Amino acid sequence: MLRLAICLGCCLSLVACQLHSKADTKETHFLLGTIVDFTVYSDNQEIAAVAITDAAAQMRQVEAMFTTYGETKNTVKTFNAAQVFTPVQLDAPVDALLQQSLSLMQNYQGSFDPALGQLSLAWGFSTGEAHLHALPSAQVQALLDKSGGVFVQRVGKGLWQKTKPGVWLDFGAIAKGYAIDMGIQTLQKHGVTSAIINAGGDMRIMGSHGKNPWKIAIRHPRKVTSLGWLEVRGDNSIVTSGDYERFFIEDGQRYHHILDPKTGYPSSASMSVTVLAPTATLADAVSTAMFVWGPKKGLPTIENTAGLEALWLDANAKLVISSGLVPIFHAL
Ligand code: AMP
Ligand code: MG
Repeated sequence: MLRLAICLGCCLSLVACQLHSKADTKETHFLLGTIVDFTVYSDNQEIAAVAITDAAAQMRQVEAMFTTYGETKNTVKTFNAAQVFTPVQLDAPVDALLQQSLSLMQNYQGSFDPALGQLSLAWGFSTGEAHLHALPSAQVQALLDKSGGVFVQRVGKGLWQKTKPGVWLDFGAIAKGYAIDMGIQTLQKHGVTSAIINAGGDMRIMGSHGKNPWKIAIRHPRKVTSLGWLEVRGDNSIVTSGDYERFFIEDGQRYHHILDPKTGYPSSASMSVTVLAPTATLADAVSTAMFVWGPKKGLPTIENTAGLEALWLDANAKLVISSGLVPIFHAL
């Protein structure tokens, strides 16, 4: 807090001389369970600072609306606690994102599924209480039986019910992207045209960075160095799903937080995948789906979908990139 205050103090004292020269205004906030870096490139650092504060507040609201953790009440938790065939009124943004999530679930043949709630909870990765041993297959099967967006129905405007007892929503694979999009939308309302919001490596870029492209480092899933970097100009979102984010190793086998909805176990098709898409919401959901599919099944779909690009490190650490990334990816 003190550091933020000092930083803001510095920014304000520089405002007078910087009003007409373009420069980066940077702030770091802790939200969505990660460090979120805001960079706004503009000729008015005072407006930039106000825009960032507002964007961070907006993102915090999104987090409160979608989280299934902590004490804060929200309509997602109400839905999860509800009995079967009992309609629950969801907040309008939750209603909209759930509809989008279910259509993405269909597009990607269930590899992205917004209703894996109890299964994810049992593995424990999201609560920071990951088991140090794999779940027994009987338990996984029982949890899998009460999982799946196919058991979630819209029965009126914003009204949703579950058609099987125990089905829980979990927006963990898409809500961070949605929050980033809402942050960018807030910056735009303040007149910002050039910015980047980076939430722990998942980001959306708006506009160009002067004459220079934005340089985005891609983390190597097994090394401390990066895999390489992307040179990105203009509007784009870049989101990574990786098996290194939350995991444990038992008997030489890695267990991590991205589950294959077909088996209920962590997917072993990829080590990491980075997806570029027009919105962070889409990039987030597709990165999870592409992780589960791996490049063999995923690459043809990415190549056939306008606006999407992807870069995998497959299960054998082999790099696979879609054709649109060839000119802008620089391997290290
Ligand atoms: P991400 O890091 O975006 O790939 O999202 C992973 C998070 O989404 C996990 O921590 C779970 O909460 C949830 N999740 C895990 N597997 C899936 C899946 N196949 N589809 C949708 N959500 C998932
Ligand atoms: Mg995701």
